[in-house]
Amino acid sequence: MPDPGSEPAGAASRAATVSAESSRGPESPVTSRLSCESDPELARLLATHAGVILLRLRGTLRAAPPERLRAEGDQRAHEFLTAALRRLRPGDAVLSEEGADDPRRLEAHRVWIIDPLDGTREYAEPHRSDWAVHVALWERGAVVAGAVALPGLGPTFSSEHPPTVPGQPHKPLRMLISRSRPPAYAAALAERIGAELVPMGSAGAKTMAVARGEADLYVHDGGQYEWDSAAPVAVALAAGLHASRVDGAPLRYNNADPYQPDLLVCRPELAERTLAALAAVRT
Ligand SMILES: [Mg+2]
Repeated sequence: MPDPGSEPAGAASRAATVSAESSRGPESPVTSRLSCESDPELARLLATHAGVILLRLRGTLRAAPPERLRAEGDQRAHEFLTAALRRLRPGDAVLSEEGADDPRRLEAHRVWIIDPLDGTREYAEPHRSDWAVHVALWERGAVVAGAVALPGLGPTFSSEHPPTVPGQPHKPLRMLISRSRPPAYAAALAERIGAELVPMGSAGAKTMAVARGEADLYVHDGGQYEWDSAAPVAVALAAGLHASRVDGAPLRYNNADPYQPDLLVCRPELAERTLAALAAVRT
């Protein structure tokens, strides 16, 4: 795992710092300061460190009821991220899955869109790694930075240094769908494009699985919110993947209603035929 306490060279003049422990008591495992000079770097560091908090909590509460682990995971990651953003970017607005929606974000030029723990259900299941931390920055109409930490696997993916999508598509294609809310047309779509269905938790984990070449596409049509996809889509687009609504429309963020029911992320060479197949099976 990257060291969230490492300091980049040349961070002196514009760097802002925060004590990781100051935001959330003594359970924080990182005693050094987080330091950053750019928004993408901050997104990566914050997502990574929230992941460390979640991993540690998962170990501490391994014998606790899963509902307690889910609740505390959501809360502690949210508290860390929002406290750090308040200190490091005090002029910015925040839209978090775990916070009250502040309508002032609609007047703001910069809004951090965060999902402190994506895949809460999987987080509370021992040995599962399909859960994530999402940190994205929307600025004047577009998501300009995003980071997705996959603490159960190790890496944090970011739009600043996006992964290289490897090789060729699988044969048959591997199509990721939600474990709990797969599209009603999933089987019909898979048959039409020649894919096998792969259920997985967490929109971030699924999107990064496409970016890592573990799968070829991710189709969701069962209800989602902006924090589910903002950071993953930022990384996906930076990696050269296709990302859109399932009808091909562009994804837009910081809307008054953050509900965004569907999502397609796929290798770019699959976009045209997948969108055509979606148009056929959704009618
Ligand atoms: Mg969440």
